[in-house]
Amino acid sequence: MNTRTTKELPVVSPSASDDAGLNLITPDKFHDECAVFGIYGHKEAANLTYLGLYALQHRGQEASGIVSGDGEHFYVHKGKGLVADIYNPQSLEKLTGSMAIGHNRYSTAGDNNLSNVQPLSVSFAFGNLALAHNGNLINAQVLRAELEAYGAIFQSTSDSEVMIHLIAHSRADTLLARIIDALGQVRGAFSVVMQTDHGIIAVRDPHGFRPLCLGRMGDTYLVASETCAFDLLGAKIIREIEPGELVVLNEKGVTSYHPFAPVNPAMCIFEYVYFARPDSQIFGANAVYATRKALGRQLAKESLVKADIVVPVPDSGVPAALGYAEGAGIPFELGLIRNHYIGRTFIEPEQSIRHFGVKIKLNAVSEVLEGKRVVVVDDSLVRGTTSRKIVKMIRDAGAKEVHMRISSPPIISPCFYGIDTPTKKELIGSSHSLEEIRKYITADSLAYLSLEGMLNAAPGTPEQYCSACFTEKYPIALTRAEEWQLGLFDPSL
Ligand code: AMP
Repeated sequence: MNTRTTKELPVVSPSASDDAGLNLITPDKFHDECAVFGIYGHKEAANLTYLGLYALQHRGQEASGIVSGDGEHFYVHKGKGLVADIYNPQSLEKLTGSMAIGHNRYSTAGDNNLSNVQPLSVSFAFGNLALAHNGNLINAQVLRAELEAYGAIFQSTSDSEVMIHLIAHSRADTLLARIIDALGQVRGAFSVVMQTDHGIIAVRDPHGFRPLCLGRMGDTYLVASETCAFDLLGAKIIREIEPGELVVLNEKGVTSYHPFAPVNPAMCIFEYVYFARPDSQIFGANAVYATRKALGRQLAKESLVKADIVVPVPDSGVPAALGYAEGAGIPFELGLIRNHYIGRTFIEPEQSIRHFGVKIKLNAVSEVLEGKRVVVVDDSLVRGTTSRKIVKMIRDAGAKEVHMRISSPPIISPCFYGIDTPTKKELIGSSHSLEEIRKYITADSLAYLSLEGMLNAAPGTPEQYCSACFTEKYPIALTRAEEWQLGLFDPSL
C-alpha cells in the first residue's frame, strides 16, 4: 500500500477532469492501446477484417484502417472515428484480395492526423508491406533519430513506423530475415501484424506484453488481439501466439518461428483488470470474465465491510462486483446505469450546465440506493476524478454509506508498454495515502486489492505478469537515452 503523504492533490488539467472520466478529451500525448487483426486466404478478407475490428472496438476508438492485398496490389481504407462510421459497403468492396490486416487506434490529441492511422503501408525493394501494431516501443525515438541520421524520411510521428524503416534498412537477404532483424532491434511491447505480397506475418514481442491470438475458419487462418473477434466470425480459437513467436500465414498454412532470445514473460496484468473484453480469452487462459470475478472475490476476502448492497461501476466494474457480492454474501444491485451511446462527438455544454459531470455517462437509481449502505466496486482508480463524482452521485441518490472498493492495487507509475496512463504526477495513487484518497473521493471507506491478491487471482504464476503500473518495477530497464526520450530523466539530479 502506498503510504506517501504529499499533501497536494493530483494535478488534473481542466480538459481531463471535466470530461468526467469519459476520456472524451485526452491529454496531448501518445497513446498506443490498439487492436490488430489479420486474415489470410478468404475471398471476403476485408469484410471479415471489418467485423473483427468491430468486435475489437474497445481497444481503440480514435481511428481505424484496413489494408487488403491480392498478391500484387494493396488496397487501403482508413478514417478517423468508430469502425461503424469509417467503413461502408462501397469502401469495403474496393478492398479486394484474399488477405487483409486491420487496426483500431486509441485516442490521441496531438497526433491524430491520418498519416498516423494504421496499418502503415509502403512499397519498397521487397514489394508491398503493411504493418499494424499494438503496444509501445520504448526505444522508438532513439532508433528514429539514428534512422533519420542515415537519411530515412518519416511520414508519421508513430513509433510503429520505426519498424518499417528498420526493415527497409536491413541488409538481410529475405523479407522474413529483414523483419526478424528489425524486430530484434526494437525494445518494448509489440503485437504486430504485417501483410506482404505473399501472406500475413504476426509477431509478439519476447515479453508478450500484449495479447495476440491465432484462429481458424475452415482453411482460413486469422490473427487478432483478442478472441472476441473470432467469436463474432464463428472462427475457432487455435491458441495464443507465444511471447517471442513469429507466425507466417500463407499458402502453406501456418509456420511458426521463435527467432528471438527468450526472456522472462511480462504479460500485462492490466489487460485482465480493465482493458480486454471480459468475453475474450487472453494469455492462453480462460475468459477474462472469470479472472475479473476472482479479483472481486479476493477483494471481498481482503476488505469486507457491512453493507446492504454491492453496486458495480458499469461496465468495467461489473464482473469484479459480482465476485465481491458472491464473496461477501451481499446482494448485487445495478445502482448505476450507463448510457452506452456517448460518442467522441459529445460537445461540452456551456459553463452554466457543464457541472453535470459524470451524469452524462452514468446515472444513479435512487430506488436502489436510498437509505442503503452501499459497496461500490470499480476496476481501477487512476486520477480519482471519476470515483469522486460517483461517490457524490450515489450519496445524492440517498445512500446512507458509500464504501469504495477497487479490484486492483493503487496505480503508482505510468505504463510505457501501451496502456494509456497519465503521467506519474496525475496518478493519485503515486503521491497520496489511502486516507488522503478516501477523503478526496469523499467515501466512508476505501480499499484497494492487494498486489499479491491480484496476482494470485490471475491465471498462471505471478512472475509471468508485468505489473509495473502498480509497482514501478519495469521489466525492461531503460537506458539513459530512453529515459530522456520518455521525459523521465531529470538532468538536475
Ligand atoms: P479516474 O477517475 O481517473 O480514477 O478513472 C478511473 C476509471 O477509469 C475507472 O472506472 C476505470 O475503469 C477507467 N480506466 C482505467 N484505466 C483506463 C484507461 N487506460 N483508459 C480509459 N479508462 C480507464
